[in-house]
This record gives sequence, structure tokens and C-alpha cells, in this order.
Amino acid sequence: MSITAIKGFNDILPTESERWQYIEQAARRVFELNGFSEIRVPIMEKTELFCRSIGDATDIVEKEMYTFTDKGDNSITLRPEGTASVMRAFIEHKLYAQDPVAKLYYLGPMFRYERPQKGRYRQFHQIGAEITGVNAPLADAQVLNMLVQFFREIGLDEPSLQINSLGCPECRPAYRAALVAFLEERLDRLCEDCKRRFTTNPLRTLDCKVPGCVEATAGAPSMLDHLCGDCSDHFASVKRYLDSTATPYNINPRMVRGLDYYTRTTFELVTSLLGSQSAVAAGGRYDGLISQLGGPAIPGIGFAIGFERVALLLGDKDFSRQPDLFIATMGAGERDFAFRLMHELLQSGVRVEMDYEGKSLKSQMRRADKLGARYSVVIGENEVTSGKASFKRMEDGEQIEVPLKCADIVNMTA
Ligand code: ATP
Ligand code: MG
Repeated sequence: MSITAIKGFNDILPTESERWQYIEQAARRVFELNGFSEIRVPIMEKTELFCRSIGDATDIVEKEMYTFTDKGDNSITLRPEGTASVMRAFIEHKLYAQDPVAKLYYLGPMFRYERPQKGRYRQFHQIGAEITGVNAPLADAQVLNMLVQFFREIGLDEPSLQINSLGCPECRPAYRAALVAFLEERLDRLCEDCKRRFTTNPLRTLDCKVPGCVEATAGAPSMLDHLCGDCSDHFASVKRYLDSTATPYNINPRMVRGLDYYTRTTFELVTSLLGSQSAVAAGGRYDGLISQLGGPAIPGIGFAIGFERVALLLGDKDFSRQPDLFIATMGAGERDFAFRLMHELLQSGVRVEMDYEGKSLKSQMRRADKLGARYSVVIGENEVTSGKASFKRMEDGEQIEVPLKCADIVNMTA
């Protein structure tokens, strides 16, 4: 029996990979425009890093991590997300010493042991960005605007921005207590997971998708009514800045994120087109994370975009690239000539294909069609002697007489 890939791990095949490159290039363009630099971090970390940052009582740490013991008896984990690694690197290399304000972006595979389905895989990919060192709500608005700009750049305006505030260590405990009191009376209506969350991580019950839990928690107290003065001002300013740039958003007081490090502003970009895999991008502020990981007390905010979900939203738009020119040849001598011409054209940036093996003319023309070449040309003895050939524009069949010279062909295909 032949060997197949691991369940939930996907190959990204050609044409799909071109869609991915389109997304990746747009992200790099927008992020770099906004002053972000790429950081590349390893895909494995000490398990402890994720337990300490994401939190022991989160779904990710409790049941989704790929954790192994290596040959040296160390517990290592395939990263389930990027922020923890980026902040580990930020602290380890003392990037804050040069400048506490760092704008970093990353992209690459993440790993979570989840039930594979459309838009949810065990190896998936994220593009994320982080700003450290700025408390001001302007940074929150800037990060959100950049995220929205990215979606516009790739031609999507459907995912809509939802924002919330999760408060801070000052005001969240009182909210948590109010929520626990509310949930206590409805405990028997909650699913098994939420009964457990009730003690370990009660805010997560608001995020549960089980209909019974959604019903039971309708009318639950809202964090937004419990924000302390500073958090409340901060949230108001974020909204004001978004209004000032006409960035559309909805306030979703039930949005709690699945990672413990979030404080204050949290957000998601949600779509109605992917069923329960509705979050295409998500993030928030993490003012305590860097110090919690042993670094200085520097705040941060960031997000991660789910690559696979963005690719699904782009639908069946074709991102594959077609050759500019297909060169067909009559015989071996012309094939040598064509090979040199192709080499020159490639050096000049013209996308050229030719027949390598001396196939029949008919089969060469079939290949030109199949590849979707914009132009084709047949080179025989006459063409080589006269130094001219008739190029066929494939879309309308028009024949164009052009010298068989690199510069002339470059001009024609430009
Ligand atoms: P969900 O609620 O869908 O499980 P999440 O809250 O776990 O998402 P985050 O940890 O915030 O997601 O990750 C940010 C983004 O990464 C998500 O919005 C989503 O687009 C993507 N993502 C998360 N988990 C997966 C997965 N298993 N497969 C594909 N994409 C994923
Ligand atoms: Mg999840």
C-alpha cells in the first residue's frame, strides 16, 4: 500500500500554491508598507512556553497541542500559534533594548490536534503581526486598519470586523465573579466542556458553539459593563480612531478569545461563508504577556490571519500563471535554435515554454493550448534563414510578423 499524508496535514498543490503566493505577497506588501519587518522563528519550542503564555486551562493547551518527548527527554511542542514564539524571541534577543517599539510579522505553519474539516486542519498556516511597546489606543486602531487593508488588498470586503474589550487584571476579576454567579444558576444547562470551563475558564463558556450553551448564556453579564475607567477610556478611543478613518466594525461583547494572555482590545474578522469556521483572522492586546514570559513590562498587540480560510474565501479565482510564448519547432536543428532563443528570452523576463523532445507539430500545438500560452510560434528552416516568424496571438488567432530577435519578441509580449 502506498504511503499517504498524515490526517489533517495537507499538500498545497500547484494552482492552489499560486493562490497562496498571492495572499502571502499581499500580506508582505501591506505589512511592510506599514513598517513591519519579518521575523522567522522555529516551529518547535519548549512545551512550557505555550503553557505559560496561552494558559493551562485553554482548549489549545488542554487538548490541541502536538507535544512530544525528544531523544534528550525534553518536552517539546509543535507551535500552535505564533505570538508566544515571537515574544520569546523578542525577549531572548533583547530586541527591546534597541527599541521597545517593534513591529514584527511572521508566517508559517501552526499545529493543533483538532477534528479536521473544511477550514480546520491539524497543520494550518497563519500570517501574523505584532506591535510591542505602545499602550496607546492608536496602536490598536492602526493594527486593525492594517488588517482591514490586507483584506481589501486581496479583493475581499466580506469578512467583517468585530471588536470587544476583555479588560485588565484590575477589572476582569469582578466581571469573572459576576459571570460565575450568573452561570452557577444555569450550570445544568451547559455542555460537559462548559461545566469544566465554569471552574477553569468561565469566560470561555460565552464562546461555546453548542446551541444549549448559547441559549443558557444569553443575557450573561457583559465585560463592557465592568471595564475600569482606564480600560473604558482605552476602548472608547479605539472606537473613535476607527470612526475617524471610517473603518466599519461591530461590537461583540460575547467575543472572548481562546488564549489567556489577551487584555483590553480583542477582535476577529468573521465571515458568514465558512460555516462554524467563521473567524478568518483574530487577535488582541496582550499587555501582560512579555513580563509573564520573563521580559520587561512592555505591552503588545497583534493578530493572526488563517491562511487556509482566506484561500477558501478567494473561491475559484484563477491565480495560475500562463506562458507568454510557446515555441514549436519543425526539426532537431530548429530545436537547438529555439533553445538558445528561449534562454535569451528567459533572461529578459519573458515566460517561455518549448517542446524538449521532438514531438509532432500537432502535439506541440496541443501543449501550447493546454498551457494557455498567450502567443505561439512555429520555427522551421524558413524562419531560421529569414530571421522572421509569424507569431500567433492565441486569444484571437491573429498572426503577427516579428523578427526572431529577443528584443522584438520582448516588445511584442510586453
Ligand atoms: P476557532 O474559533 O475557529 O477555533 P481560534 O480562536 O482557535 O479559531 P486563533 O487561535 O485565534 O483561532 O487563530 C487565528 C486564526 O487562525 C483563526 O481565526 C483561523 O482563521 C485560523 N485557525 C485557527 N485554528 C485553525 C485550524 N485548526 N485550521 C485552520 N485555521 C485555523
Ligand atoms: Mg480553535
